[in-house]
Amino acid sequence: MICIWCKRDGVPISVEHIIPESLGCPEAFVFSKGEVCQKCNNKLGNVDQALLHEFEVMSFWNGIPRKRGKTPKIDSFPGLRAEVIDGEKTFYLNMEKYPVAPHAGLKVPPRNANVMALDGSMQQIGDTAKIEFSFQIGKHKKFNRALHKVAFTSTAYFLGVSAIEGQEYDHIREYVLHGGKSRPVIMLRPEQHEYHHEIFPPLKSEVTGLYIVRMVLCGLTFIVDLSPNLAALFELESSLKRDSQYNGWWSMIPPNRATCE
Ligand SMILES: [Zn+2]
Repeated sequence: MICIWCKRDGVPISVEHIIPESLGCPEAFVFSKGEVCQKCNNKLGNVDQALLHEFEVMSFWNGIPRKRGKTPKIDSFPGLRAEVIDGEKTFYLNMEKYPVAPHAGLKVPPRNANVMALDGSMQQIGDTAKIEFSFQIGKHKKFNRALHKVAFTSTAYFLGVSAIEGQEYDHIREYVLHGGKSRPVIMLRPEQHEYHHEIFPPLKSEVTGLYIVRMVLCGLTFIVDLSPNLAALFELESSLKRDSQYNGWWSMIPPNRATCE
């Protein structure tokens, strides 16, 4: 079998989780027959990391165990750490410009507005403190590559490697492996947020003749167009814009899209 990324045959294989394990990838949602070679799997670890960054807070909040069943924690989000102490979720929010160590063995790095749009406030109410924090989804610069990676691998999962082997998808391989001009995706907000993953079998777009993938990651819906010119995505954007009932329920990530050649 050839690797879906480098298209090489007979290379050492490895188990690839289609959704990062730390976010709670369903057990059967893996490649283990050589669809992804070891070298590409290792190389793309930092792309997966972008998903973990963006969804770490949500997965911690929902008590999702980390890799190999370890207790939930937050350890990659700049300015925020969290751990479970005696069964209680404990957060450490650092709004300073320097690292802070709340206890031995834990150092909270300063927040980095360039990597994460994290904001927080603390208010004293009687003898308790009310802490609020908010963050934006989609700020990590590898986030869109990571979403394309999930969409592409899930297409191979549902339809077989042969469905995405052709050179009409080489631009996706190039983008996920090496980056380049950001390819936008559409994000839809659910009426009621519930942490779960759900990936739907890809559909072939009538506009481009190539696959378009709808997937729910950590409770948010993403639409990823695997065509070079993103024509199906832009058509969907236009129809969402035309219909005011969708106002505030969707966004394009990144918001300032540039057309892709
Ligand atoms: Zn490979």
